[in-house]
Amino acid sequence: MSVRLEKDWQNWKWQLQNKIRNKESLESYIQLSDAEISAIEKTDSLFELGITPYYASLMDPLDTNCPIRLQSIPKIDELKFSDRDKQDPLAEEQYMPVKGVTHRYPDRALWYLSHTCAVYCRFCTRKRKVSKPMGTPNRNEWQSALDYFRRTESVREVILSGGDPLSLSEDHIDWILSELKSIPHINQIRIHTRHPVTLPMRITESLCRIFNKYFPIFLVTHFNHPKECSPEAREAISRLVKQGAVSVLNQSVLLEGINDSSEILKDLNYRLLSMGVKPYYLHQCDEVFGVSHFRVPIQRGKEIYQNLRGQQSGISIPLYVADLTGGGGKVPLLPEYEVETKEFTNIYRNYKGDLYEISNGNQQNEAE
Ligand code: SF4
Repeated sequence: MSVRLEKDWQNWKWQLQNKIRNKESLESYIQLSDAEISAIEKTDSLFELGITPYYASLMDPLDTNCPIRLQSIPKIDELKFSDRDKQDPLAEEQYMPVKGVTHRYPDRALWYLSHTCAVYCRFCTRKRKVSKPMGTPNRNEWQSALDYFRRTESVREVILSGGDPLSLSEDHIDWILSELKSIPHINQIRIHTRHPVTLPMRITESLCRIFNKYFPIFLVTHFNHPKECSPEAREAISRLVKQGAVSVLNQSVLLEGINDSSEILKDLNYRLLSMGVKPYYLHQCDEVFGVSHFRVPIQRGKEIYQNLRGQQSGISIPLYVADLTGGGGKVPLLPEYEVETKEFTNIYRNYKGDLYEISNGNQQNEAE
């Protein structure tokens, strides 16, 4: 596409400064349908439109069912609310000991560093605050968060999140990582970012040099569809792995009409592994307001998942999970493999549907 000839195309700051925020700009990349135009106008006050020129360049200009379009252009269904929809389905604001930190599990805490993202994903769980500059944690609040981590020895892992924490400047990222590294009980740092997918030029060599100073860093990114595994994304991951010495994992969300097929997920998993990314989680879509049109029924999700297991190498299979509404944490959504439990053996169904009997470990008393 000709827009890629723009001289600053590879500059991540240019990409953010030229973010697409209205239908007029988007029309220079694709032909919008009447339904898309109407949805953009009607959802504007609920959740901002925001798409990098790079991500828009991955869109099919004519096909409204393009998976890149479906993830980033609103649908009128965003205005539908059910009794189950929540502003904050994971109760993240409830478990907040200091502003910007959710501490719900014993050994790890989430730290929200920014409300800004390169692309505002229409299925976002945090759309109650993401894209809204109001309430973005400031430098004093960062200090309060660091003080909390210093005095709370049970916190062994800090997860930098947002919005996108890589929206911050490199000086800020460097400072935050060095402060966390100076806390003796923090064992590992994790970074949740979608920038390798939506703004791969953000993964600069200078950013990778910063990461390299604070080994080990675990970076969890968010590819949902094979179409997102572009040459630019592949190069960004390569820089992270080779220059940043970063371990890269991926979490996807199971999304209706986008990746709700075992063939698409298999293709995605193979591509991720070939880039050096370990598929980590496949999430059931959360019960957040205005996203029910993305949600795949759990039973169908399990069937899709069952078609992955056994068909693909174990290292390519993420764990299918639901994050329980109300803050209950993640539970695996596993297909049934156990058919029968007997006194000394159990019977299992394998990935082809064949039955196998194995010892269940209960010992028969020899005197009997
Ligand atoms: S990148 Fe993550 S936090 Fe940002 S809009 Fe997308 S899903 Fe939400």
